[in-house]
Amino acid sequence: MIVKSKTKPLLLRQLEALLNRIPNTHSKRRFIEEDYAKQKAGYKGEKSLEYHLSYLPEKDYYIFHDLRLSASKHYFQIDILILTPFFISILEVKNISGSLYFNPAFTQLVRTIEDKEEGFPDPIQQVKRQAYHLKSWIEEQKFPVLPIEPLVVIGNERSVIKFDPRDKTSPQLVIPSSEIPYKINYFKNKYKTEAHSTGQLKKLINKLKNSHTPLLTEILQRYHIGPAELKQGVQCQKCFSYPMIRIHGRWICSACKHLSKDAHIQSLQEYSLLINQSISNSHAKEYLGIESRDSVKRLLQSISGKKAGAKRGTKYLLDSFIDNPDSFH
Ligand SMILES: [Zn+2]
Repeated sequence: MIVKSKTKPLLLRQLEALLNRIPNTHSKRRFIEEDYAKQKAGYKGEKSLEYHLSYLPEKDYYIFHDLRLSASKHYFQIDILILTPFFISILEVKNISGSLYFNPAFTQLVRTIEDKEEGFPDPIQQVKRQAYHLKSWIEEQKFPVLPIEPLVVIGNERSVIKFDPRDKTSPQLVIPSSEIPYKINYFKNKYKTEAHSTGQLKKLINKLKNSHTPLLTEILQRYHIGPAELKQGVQCQKCFSYPMIRIHGRWICSACKHLSKDAHIQSLQEYSLLINQSISNSHAKEYLGIESRDSVKRLLQSISGKKAGAKRGTKYLLDSFIDNPDSFH
């Protein structure tokens, strides 16, 4: 069964929010668009793996997408973790197009596309390192360690994979996505000793789920953009122009006259993804373009039950937008 499903990565949501808020004429827009296209292709590639994973019998396998855990104070990220009472397999997914050569001498992946060569860090080393970290994590949590099988999955079906003929190890570890069910079944036949009782397995599943810590990138710092460079105000969901004006408890678009009750939600969601995970009354007044302190207060109270600080220093927490993107839709 899928314990943690594949959802839109936080970085992708941040880039979407940023593209929505950065003016079309901004000099950094082109770089952000390029990064967004890369992230989106990666997400689509990983999403398409769900089809191949669906061939694994639900009751035998516990599947986690995008786990970020910390062992010995270091964070490590796993694209897909498949847990059974007998073994664990971890999958590092690569969606690199072109001809891919795994060079064992230099532990490097060389991609050739249109006669141009480009080097990438070796994904085999990457996934082996994750296996090592995961083993430490399981030991730290005082669970019995079970065999860990690392795999590199090539998500792009048109990529051509090449190995050094003397290299006997890499071809065992790199597979096309369509081979996932067969490879996992091979591990199932290989490991016959149950390392965990049903109770222990349940505890481990919960521990993995609860230990996941999403990475929130300081996205504005990453592109050296200041909050003042972003578009302010509430965006119209119909014609996408800025700003909507608040009149009698409703938002009205200054361009197309579209009316909305909750257009501020997306704006505050974008604020939490780009600027800060909490907001004061005065910042919200300025950002949303509302004159009255009291109506801002009512609005913030309606979307955020959690507050920090007191009186004029009160901040409303917007972190639920980060943890659960769908909670307000
Ligand atoms: Zn409009």
